[in-house]
Amino acid sequence: MTIERILEVIKSKHPETDLTMVALAYEVAEKAHAGQKRASGEDYVQHPLETAYKLAEMDIDIPTVIAGLLHDVPEETSHTIEEIKKDFGREIADMVAGITKLGTIKYRGLERYAENLRKMFVAMAEDVRVVFIKFADRIHNLKTLYALRPVKQQRIAKETLEIYAPIANRLGMNELQNEMEDLAFPYVYPEEYKWTVEISKKQYEERERDAETVIKKIKQVLKESGLNDFDIYGRAKHYYSLYLKLLRKEMDIDRIYDLVALRIIVKTTDECYRVLGLIHSLSKPMTGRVKDYIAQPKPNGYQSLHTTVYYDNKIVEFQIRTKEMEAEAEWGIAAHWSFKERSGRHAKIPVDPEKLKWIKTLLKQGDEVRKPEEYLDKLKMDFFKSRIFVFTPKGDVIDLPEGSTPIDFAYHIHTYIGDHATAAKINGKLETLSAKLKSGDMVELTVDKKRTRPAEEWLEFVQTNLAKEKIRQALKKNEGLSGIFKFFNN
Ligand code: MN
Repeated sequence: MTIERILEVIKSKHPETDLTMVALAYEVAEKAHAGQKRASGEDYVQHPLETAYKLAEMDIDIPTVIAGLLHDVPEETSHTIEEIKKDFGREIADMVAGITKLGTIKYRGLERYAENLRKMFVAMAEDVRVVFIKFADRIHNLKTLYALRPVKQQRIAKETLEIYAPIANRLGMNELQNEMEDLAFPYVYPEEYKWTVEISKKQYEERERDAETVIKKIKQVLKESGLNDFDIYGRAKHYYSLYLKLLRKEMDIDRIYDLVALRIIVKTTDECYRVLGLIHSLSKPMTGRVKDYIAQPKPNGYQSLHTTVYYDNKIVEFQIRTKEMEAEAEWGIAAHWSFKERSGRHAKIPVDPEKLKWIKTLLKQGDEVRKPEEYLDKLKMDFFKSRIFVFTPKGDVIDLPEGSTPIDFAYHIHTYIGDHATAAKINGKLETLSAKLKSGDMVELTVDKKRTRPAEEWLEFVQTNLAKEKIRQALKKNEGLSGIFKFFNN
């Protein structure tokens, strides 16, 4: 990596920007780290360069890129924070100090780990950009993990999956979350990683070929309908998220429809719906797979239209969104720090403070909880709060929203089981069909073949849309039948 490449990336997006300070920061970093080597054998300065490059790619503001270049200077060299403050000002010095504070506690047991985390949230609460630098730093550390001792590899990779990736997810930073997960995956679960790569290899190749054909056709259709300014490309699913999804789909890769998803990026929200209409007029959508996350965004702010269609005997998933939605989907909260040029000056889109409130809440919890294990448990619970993981008697994992019941579980396994469910056992104990499931529960359902229809009152307690839909469908079908019976009886 070179400083020139970083400057080029910024210039290509913002030609008018003055990059003197970025170049200067590089000079300072290079001098300070002179003679130092990384465990991988590279010159140390490669590490801050790679970190800054990632930040430039994210299109984050200039002070953050500069802080990225300087992030290891106070900790690893004799150059001090005071000197950075003198040369680059308080904003940058504070960010570097935030990162440095995070680095000083090394992992030695659970207690320090929890303390380290707390520090991370303190730093984030002060300036959330510090965590962007930490992510960029972590990504390069993961890329050079091979050079470290196995114990350290495990520690860093695990910490990435358990803490960093969920924080990135919480901040809506999918691109970084996926990248961190895929880099850590082979270290934490080597067998599962190999298996996932193996099982998906042939499918990826096939679907990528299919995608090309479909892209050609869709391009033509969109152009014919007068749309010219759009972008369409195939996007392969990341291995770690594929692995998690396979866990939920009985390890059946044929049920993963977004292995290669097609993304269409347009200019306006109106155009998103127009494109959806065009796709549906061309090919039949799959039931229950049309999702409007524009009208109803996901909790982390994700917006997009999704649909899965049958096209030419193939199943293809589309994700349709505007450029702004795309930036938000990939970079999440970081997108608000990218600078937009308005009349020659840089202005940031303000972040809704509500979106960052959870950081302060987590901090407060840390004050209340004394034991580090409890704090860690609380953190994990909070990140995964919205989902629960329950088991089938065979040990398969089903991922459901919080508050789900045995009926939700039943319909997620099979419509037949849902329609004919009569009793549920949770962890071997008989429970009502409306009982609330908890993570780790093992659920077993009894079905009655003679049962003709699901109960209408199930609609009052089921949590998932899937269950609601299936129940309504079954009730409708039944209404039709009973109407006919009535006719004959009369
Ligand atoms: Mn570093």
